[in-house]
Amino acid sequence: MNRVLALPALFFCLLTYTPSYTTFNLIFFYMTWTTLILSHSPFKVELFGSIGVRLLFYVLPSALLFLFDALVPSAAVLLKAHGEQGLPSGSKRRRVRVQEFKVAGWAFLNIFISIAVQAAIETLRIGYFKTRSALKVSFTIPLIPWNIAFHLACVLLLREILAYIIHRFVLHNEKYRITRYISSLHQTWYHSLHTPYPSTAHYDHPIPYLLGNAVPTLLPAVFLRLHMITYAMYLSIVSLEETLAYSGYSAMPMDFFLLGGIARRVEKHLMNRAAGNFSPWGIADWFCQTTITEEEGGALITETDEEEDESSPVFRGREIFEAKVQEALDSHAKKTQRKHKKRSRHLL
Ligand SMILES: [Zn+2]
Repeated sequence: MNRVLALPALFFCLLTYTPSYTTFNLIFFYMTWTTLILSHSPFKVELFGSIGVRLLFYVLPSALLFLFDALVPSAAVLLKAHGEQGLPSGSKRRRVRVQEFKVAGWAFLNIFISIAVQAAIETLRIGYFKTRSALKVSFTIPLIPWNIAFHLACVLLLREILAYIIHRFVLHNEKYRITRYISSLHQTWYHSLHTPYPSTAHYDHPIPYLLGNAVPTLLPAVFLRLHMITYAMYLSIVSLEETLAYSGYSAMPMDFFLLGGIARRVEKHLMNRAAGNFSPWGIADWFCQTTITEEEGGALITETDEEEDESSPVFRGREIFEAKVQEALDSHAKKTQRKHKKRSRHLL
C-alpha cells in the first residue's frame, strides 16, 4: 500500500508547496523521487503510480459520492442537474438496488482491468522484447512549468482526438460486423444508464471500455513517452474530470475549468441516443460539427421522457383520468340528447 500511495503523495507535496518553501520542497521532492526509483524498477513505479492516482482521484471520491447518493437521496437530489432522474435509483423514494451496485462494481473493476492490461503489455515489452518502459522513469525530473504545461496540453489534445474517433467510428458504428458487435455491447451496457451518476465514467462492457476509455487515455502518453511525474499529473486531471463530470451534480467545484460544460455534454450523449457529443471535452465535436445543441438536446430529452413515461404509473394515471373524462363527456352528451328528444316529443 505504501508503494501504491508513494507517487500520488509525492505529487501532492509538490502541488501544495508555497513560494517561500519552494526550494526546500523541490529538494525534498527530488530526494524522495530518487529514493523511489533507486528502490523500485521503472515497471513498478509506473504500475503502482497509476494504481495510486486512480485510487486517490477516481475510485475513492466516486465511491464516496455514490454512497452519498445512495444513503441520503433527499439531500443529493437538491444538487442534481436532472433532479431525481440523476440519482442512481432514478427516484428518491426508491432504494439503490443490486443493479446500481453492479454498475459501480463494474466501473471499478474496469479500471483494474485496464491497469492489468497495461502491466501485461509492459511485462511483455520490457521482459520479452527488452525495450525501455513505455513511460519515462529517470533521475531527471520535469521542473519547467511551461514544458509541463505543453506536454499536458499535447497529451490531452491527443486523448480528445483519439477518444472522439474511437467513440464515433467504432463504438457507434453499425456498418461492419465487428463494430456492430462492439456497438451492441456499448449500447446494452453504457447506454442502458438513464443518466450519468457517480462512478459511471468507467461503466461499460470491458471491450468497448478498453477501446473507448483506456486506449485514448494511455496511448497518447506512451506515444509522447511522458515522464512518470507528468503522467501522474495527466492521469490526476483525467480522473478528477471523470469523477466530477459524471457525478450528475449541477454545481461543480472548479466550474471555471469547463467542468460544468463537460458534465452537460456527457449527459446529452447518454440521454439523446448518442446523436453527438462523442469526445470528452467537446473540441473534436465542435470541429466535426457533431455537438448536440441546447435545442436538439432539449427536444430529444423531452421526446425520450414521453416515450419512457408510457409505462410509468404517472402516465397510466393520466391515461385513466383522460379516459374517465371522455366517458363522462360522452354520457353527458347522451343525457342531453335524450332530454332534447323528450322535450321535442312533449312539444309535439
Ligand atoms: Zn456512446
